[in-house]
Parts: sequence; structure tokens; C-alpha cells
Amino acid sequence: MILEGKQIIGQDIAAGPGTSFQAVDPANGETLPPEFPSADGKQVERACQLAWDAFDAYRETSLEERAKFLETIAEEIEHLGGGLIERAMSESGLPVARLEGERGRTCNQLRLFANVVRAGEWLDVRVDPALPERTPMPRPDLRQRHIPLGPVAVFGASNFPLAFSVAGGDTASALASGCPVIVKAHSAHPGTSELVARAIQSAAKKCNMPEGVFSMLFDAGYEVGTSLVKHPNIKAVGFTGSRKGGLALQQAAQSRPEPIPVYAEMSSINPVFLMPKALEARGTDLAQAFVGSLSMGAGQFCTNPGLVIGLKSPALDSFIEEAGKALKDTPANTMLTPGIHSAYEQSVAKLAGNTKVNEVSRGLTGEGENQCQAGLFTTQGADVLADESLQEEVFGATSLVVICSDMDEMKRVAEALEGQLTATLQMDEGDTDTVASLLPTLERKAGRIMANGWPTGVEVCHAMVHGGPFPATTDSRTTSVGSAAIYRFLRPVCYQNLSDALLPEALKEANSLGLKRLVDGKREG
Ligand code: NAP
Repeated sequence: MILEGKQIIGQDIAAGPGTSFQAVDPANGETLPPEFPSADGKQVERACQLAWDAFDAYRETSLEERAKFLETIAEEIEHLGGGLIERAMSESGLPVARLEGERGRTCNQLRLFANVVRAGEWLDVRVDPALPERTPMPRPDLRQRHIPLGPVAVFGASNFPLAFSVAGGDTASALASGCPVIVKAHSAHPGTSELVARAIQSAAKKCNMPEGVFSMLFDAGYEVGTSLVKHPNIKAVGFTGSRKGGLALQQAAQSRPEPIPVYAEMSSINPVFLMPKALEARGTDLAQAFVGSLSMGAGQFCTNPGLVIGLKSPALDSFIEEAGKALKDTPANTMLTPGIHSAYEQSVAKLAGNTKVNEVSRGLTGEGENQCQAGLFTTQGADVLADESLQEEVFGATSLVVICSDMDEMKRVAEALEGQLTATLQMDEGDTDTVASLLPTLERKAGRIMANGWPTGVEVCHAMVHGGPFPATTDSRTTSVGSAAIYRFLRPVCYQNLSDALLPEALKEANSLGLKRLVDGKREG
């Protein structure tokens, strides 16, 4: 497919009249054709109008029609073949195997949501039948289902050009819930975005979806994205990226005459707690595995282990030494964009320049452009408690080991942490009691707590929580990965005493959809 660099607005492909930009290959700094001119205000208006016009029809598509639409999007993405992977490689510097895996994850995610839509449990149907004889007051007939919020603006991240971008988790969950979607394409991978957007456009046509169910706009700056968030037809926002970007969009959403929810996944340093018995028993293995997790993909994962916390001991000293040795041999990898690379260099320099921080080792330097040289540093628990800047995310393959004087200090460090996507425990059976005393704190801090794994690698499934208290996200009540993400874009509506003829299909007495309902407080089926 030849890239046209045009806006995808419903079933139209329209040239943008605004400032143009081009993708840059981070491996060599070369710009990639074509030019992508930005959308203007009229195109934002057109996409938002189409989305609004589509909303009522799209939200009442049958469960099967909507599921089929999601599956067709997956098929259309697969039909893009190697061209999609090649373009994504040149726009992101990510290797082929990683991008093929990411495409599989993207398509599986769409199919997972198709199955969730078909099952219909997300409608959460509740029926409290009328009790006309009840005294002193009769009860009316009350029925509840969930409906979608309305058109959603989606902002993807640079580090997952497929799975957290145009057809990523936010788009899949919003479309599954019945919300039309308008994507603001990420400027780091516009060609990849165009290919995927055209696959969605084609799926919408094949499945006879209302035209405005999906649009995507390009922008050389922030104007289009901000206008989308402020547009009255947009009713929610999905975002993955920086804390600064997420907060700017949240502020725009909150300053509207009608504020709307923003689900922004932003900043996390994913603390790893090295418990004493595990460290004594297998410190060398842990050090090797830690460096593997830290350096994978140049550390450009939102779940990268940026903080490691242990108790002052010979076992922790050996861990640091082993990890330092392993890290020294870690090859440098190309980072996603020149901007991310320079932000990384600045963050590492700031950390290294902190007088309370000691360098353990640095990885190999690369030959090419925008190479991430890994880094390992140490500091003391008391210093983390005194200096909040030691908790700042370094987006890339750098981590800080925090040496705590005793268990009490480790707990205080845990208590002082900001909200996190993950908290990891390296533990053996002998550590169980100590971990039990730490768990209440970790539950308050993180969306996912894991034992004896590494935080990188997020399973797309029903029980996953990829979220957490601020600043991991702007709304800790939900997740951006896994099937529970559908609930972000839904709200309950109660129907009181409406006749069966007026009730939506899901609430009619006959229950023709075969839904498992909560009737008078009891689960059916
Ligand atoms: P980003 O710079 O926040 O960009 C994400 C998207 O939001 C892009 O489409 C961007 O537009 C847009 N945007 C950013 N700031 C905006 C603003 N003020 N107003 C309107 N739109 C705005 O994130 P990124 O490019 O993916 O990565 C940069 C940094 O984000 C990294 O260095 C890292 O710190 C962090 N990050 C975090 C995660 C996570 O999951 N926690 C994941 C990836 C990255 P443009 O396309 O025009 O830039």
C-alpha cells in the first residue's frame, strides 16, 4: 500500500492543509517520505461530527456485528503483511521479531475484545422486578444496563507503534464498548499509523459500520489533539505517553464546560523489592535476570524496573557487583526517537550528577545514532526519603538500586513511593512474613504486584491490571490492558417502569440475548 500522508476521516482520505512533518528513522537520522500535512480545524470538526452522527447507530449494533467488526480489523491488519512491519521498523528502530510479536498481540487483543463483546457480560444487566404489593410503598420495575460514553479521542505511545497506537488497547476497548474513535496519530510513526488506520477504515466498510465509527488525524504540533479533547462531541480520552502530555490533556479535558474522563497511562518506575532470603539464595541469578529485563528494548517500556530496593548486606553487595558486570557488556540499542534519546541522556546525567548517587557501571556505547547506553546506579534509602527527584522516571535502560539500612527503612521507602504500574517481589518461602507486612503498602501503591517475575511483559487477559495510582495513571480505578479496559468507556443507565416495547433488547423480559442477569439480587444461569 502506498502511503498518501492524508487524514482518514470516516470513509474519506483527505489532504491536510496544515504544517507538514515527516517521520525520522532513528537508526540513521534520515527523514522518511511522504510528508504528513496536519489537519485543520474544519477536519477536526468533520471527524467529530461524523463520530457523533455514528454514535447512536454504532452503539446499538448487535453484539455479533460489533464482534465481527473487531475481528475484521485484525484480519485487515494481518493482510497488510510485511509492509507494515518494514515501515514500523524504519520509524521506530525496533527489530523485526519484536514488531511481529507486537502485531500478533494487537490482533489477539482485538479478537479478545470480540469475544468479550459477544459474551455481553459488560452490559451488566440488573433487573429488580416491580413489587406492586410491597408495603408501605410498592416498588417500580427497575432495570439497568451499561451504555458507551460517546466518541473517544485516542493518543497512542511511541514505544508500541502497534499495540498502544492506532488499533491498540484504547481503540480496541473503546470500539468494543460501542464508542466511535478518533485517533490523533503519533508523530513518531505516522506511516505505520496510516497503514493501520486504512485497515480499520476498510474493516468499517466491509462490516457496514456507520461511517464516523473511526477517523484518524495527523498533527505536526499539539493543536489537533487539544482541539479533539476540547470538542463537545468527544466524551472520553485514552492516552499513553509522558506525564507532561497526559497532564496537559487532562487539564484540557477538565477545563471544558462539560469535563470528561481522561484515562492517561503515564509514568512509573516499577520498584523491585529484593527480599533477604531470595537474595542470599540466588542473588547472582537475580542480577542476570534483572539486567535482562532492564535492557530489553533499550529499556523503553512503561514497566521497566527503574528502582531496585534491598537491605544493606553482603548479599546485596554481590547482587550489585554481578548486575554491574552484566550491564557492562550490554549492547547499546537504538532508541525510538531522537527526542527520547536526548531526554534519556539528560535524565541519566541528572541522576549521575546527584551527589547522593554512585555509578556502578555503564553499558556499551553504540556506533549508530540515538543509541541507549545502559546504566546502573546506587543510593541509600535515607536519600530517597529526602529527595523526591530520585523517583523521577528515566525512560530507557537505567536503574537505581536503593540500599536500605533495615526492614523499617525499606517499608518507609515503599511508603514514600509515588503510584506505580507494578511492584515486584523477589522472594523465597522464608521471606513470606516480611512480604506480608509490606503488602498493604504495595497494594496502595501499585496496579499489579508480582512475585518472582519481572515487570516487563504485560499479559493481555481478563485479570490484568495495567494501571495504578497517580502518576502511573490519571485514574487508578481501571486498566488500559486486558478485557476489563472496556469498563472505562461505559456508564450505567437505569430504566424505571419503561414498557417492554421501549426497553433495549438486553433488558426485555424475554432475554433473547441469553445474558446472565442479576435478577432481584440473584445471578441467573
Ligand atoms: P508523549 O510525548 O507524551 O506523546 C504521546 C502523544 O500525546 C503524542 O501523540 C503526542 O503528540 C501527544 N502529546 C504529548 N504532549 C501533548 C500536549 N501537551 N498536548 C497535546 N498532545 C500532546 O509520549 P511518547 O512520545 O510516547 O514518549 C515520550 C515520553 O513518554 C517518554 O520519554 C517516556 O517518559 C514516556 N512514556 C511513558 C509510557 C508509559 O506507558 N508510562 C510509554 C511511553 C512513553 P506528538 O505526536 O505530536 O508528539
